[in-house]
Amino acid sequence: MATDYDAPRKTEDDSESIEALKERVPDKLSGAVDVEDADNPSGFELPGADLSDLELDVVVLPPQEDEFTCANCFLVKHRSQIDHDTPHGAVCLECAA
Ligand SMILES: [Zn+2]
Repeated sequence: MATDYDAPRKTEDDSESIEALKERVPDKLSGAVDVEDADNPSGFELPGADLSDLELDVVVLPPQEDEFTCANCFLVKHRSQIDHDTPHGAVCLECAA
């Protein structure tokens, strides 16, 4: 009995919603996509070569035993330049000043 009521309702809802969607979707979407496709290529060019150049510049030698890498400025300095230690590493006098 109850299922007899459900079946005709579902088919009615489906046909109505599909027709409503078809009426709203038509030309607006295709037009918007065309405009964005024309704008993007000229505005956004990814600088992939620049990134590899940066990596070559940032080759860092490991600190010697009497040196440390400052946890704040990441410069390698002599241990006499340590102001204090932090959980992330030592901080140099200049950064602590
Ligand atoms: Zn520092």
